[in-house]
Amino acid sequence: MKNYVKNVPTPAYVVDEALVEKNLAILTSVMERTGCKILLAQKAFSMFSMYPQIAASLCGTTASGLYEARLGHEEFGGETHVFSPAYKEEDMDELLTYCDHIVFNSISQYERYAPLVHKRGKQCGLRLNPECSTQEGHAIYDPCAPGSRLGVTKDAFDFSRLEGIDGFHIHTLCEQNSDSLAKTITALEDKFGDYLGKVKWINLGGGHHITREDYDLQLLIDIILHLKNTYGVDIYLEPGEAVVLNAGFLVSKVLELVENNISIAILDTSAACHMPDVLEMPYRPEIIGAKTPDDPAYPYTYRLAGPTCLAGDSIGDYSFAKPLQIGDYLIFCDMALYSMVKNNTFNGMPLPAIVIHTKDGENKVVKTFGYEDFKGRLS
Ligand SMILES: *Cc1c(COP(=O)(O)O)cnc(C)c1O
Repeated sequence: MKNYVKNVPTPAYVVDEALVEKNLAILTSVMERTGCKILLAQKAFSMFSMYPQIAASLCGTTASGLYEARLGHEEFGGETHVFSPAYKEEDMDELLTYCDHIVFNSISQYERYAPLVHKRGKQCGLRLNPECSTQEGHAIYDPCAPGSRLGVTKDAFDFSRLEGIDGFHIHTLCEQNSDSLAKTITALEDKFGDYLGKVKWINLGGGHHITREDYDLQLLIDIILHLKNTYGVDIYLEPGEAVVLNAGFLVSKVLELVENNISIAILDTSAACHMPDVLEMPYRPEIIGAKTPDDPAYPYTYRLAGPTCLAGDSIGDYSFAKPLQIGDYLIFCDMALYSMVKNNTFNGMPLPAIVIHTKDGENKVVKTFGYEDFKGRLS
């Protein structure tokens, strides 16, 4: 059992180098077997103290705008790509100093900015919407939902207005296996097949859960090779989650125990502030040593709640083999992705420290936050 609490202030995000490396080895094998390029989507994970380790395997980063593009350029290196639903005129010049590929979301954005991008020797892409929903339940994570602003539909597509276009981009998946990608590619080919051979590259976006245990790698590899061989294009993937899936933890402590028909444990971490996807997505994170309330070997059940004044700041009901005590550590799993990039200081909550669990088994505190971080974004 690894020790993720020794010398760790709480709350803290602890990211395990060896577990990241395990993911990178899988991603590297996909690149080696297909010749595709894989980028880190910084939207999911921007812990730049780990960029050197990740950059040793992946080809670069992708960004959602100017700040992520700058961070990727400064701290990661390699190729820098950016996609935004709409770019600000005043950002373009600086963006072009960082980015190799600029992906546009509409033909009019392409027409407005492509001459500038090409003049600077950079490449332009267009995001397509294959209108193929493959996920159930998560409408807010479905870029193919009716009325979506994300990507150009077949009806809005007009190749005659895309002279000089270098590539196409799709991003339609969220935590999905390669069978969903296969359906999406069939829809893409049905709708846009006449044009896929006219560009240099196709970027298949993120949402590929490549490093999950049950992920069908062979099907992904077959799809990439099919696209390369059929259309003569280079293929990019830009996963966020898959790079750090199951590689990080949120370490917290029990502050207080109260009763109200149920037993409630108040922690020094908050769902609303430190793991907002628990409420937003929503989902139930795993905790080391805890089970769901129906397990007879784990008879002590608690609702785990944050110290904020939001009534709904609850992480869920968890059961333990022994009663919880004040001061106990609780370690939430899979907390590297969409956590530190989304956290906030609502209620004046302190931000969790950022810690690397090194391959030597040490916990290296790389950053702590204080009052100034709360005050600094207000005035
Ligand atoms: C969110 C996003 C990604 C990364 O998605 P994951 O689900 O974290 O793999 C990649 N590309 C684009 C355009 C995105 O919006």
